[in-house]
Amino acid sequence: MRKYVIMGVQGSGKGTQARMLAADLDMVHISVGDIFRWNVQNHTKMGAQVRRVMAAGELVGDDLVESVVRDRLTQHDWNYGFIIDGFPRSRRQAEFFLESYDIDGVIVLDLPDSEVRRRVLNRRLCANCGMDYNLIANSPKVPGRCDTCGGELVTREDDTEEALAVRLREYHKEAEAVLEIFRRKEYVFVIDARPAPDEIQAQIRKCLGLPAYQAKEEHAAQRGSAGA
Ligand code: AMP
Repeated sequence: MRKYVIMGVQGSGKGTQARMLAADLDMVHISVGDIFRWNVQNHTKMGAQVRRVMAAGELVGDDLVESVVRDRLTQHDWNYGFIIDGFPRSRRQAEFFLESYDIDGVIVLDLPDSEVRRRVLNRRLCANCGMDYNLIANSPKVPGRCDTCGGELVTREDDTEEALAVRLREYHKEAEAVLEIFRRKEYVFVIDARPAPDEIQAQIRKCLGLPAYQAKEEHAAQRGSAGA
């Protein structure tokens, strides 16, 4: 059973890398941001609670985040392990997490802020199936339409200059606090997030001592170049 955390600022490709890692190793990919986005899109009570905070690029309160993570992990559908993306994002979340779970490795995708801005402002998301696109390196075949389901491609509500500036500031502050806790365990791997997705994945697997990535057709279709 493998348990990993993947961290990185928005646009660093952590969603893409987590999906590639989970796909052929039969791990479950858990994205806290995706869970919140699903709730917003489906107009749930939780969606109403987090929508404004998310759109402003701010962090959702620790209590709610912790209950979402606890509920997700107690489903125990992760027989071969999990890779969690976008969590923990604060010292308190990290401490809460380590109280209940032993982590085998923490991957930090490192990207300069200037590159983050370029990627995030060119990011699009399928409103129907959630697939990520990047208009720089991974544009859809038909402009504005998802290659997989034909759904409409939209800009994430929080992918604006203003929200991004807030997120970058928050990220640097919180990531340092979280990493300080993880570094005590000596299993933090900082990976350059600028190369192509396949190269980054190879580097991650080398650090974690995992077998090389086996692209399966259905998995290859899910890979974007610079996802959440
Ligand atoms: P992400 O897709 O990981 O960038 O998350 C999108 C948004 O969801 C963030 O900007 C936050 O508003 C919220 N969010 C996701 N994960 C967390 C977390 N661990 N703590 C607080 N807020 C979070």
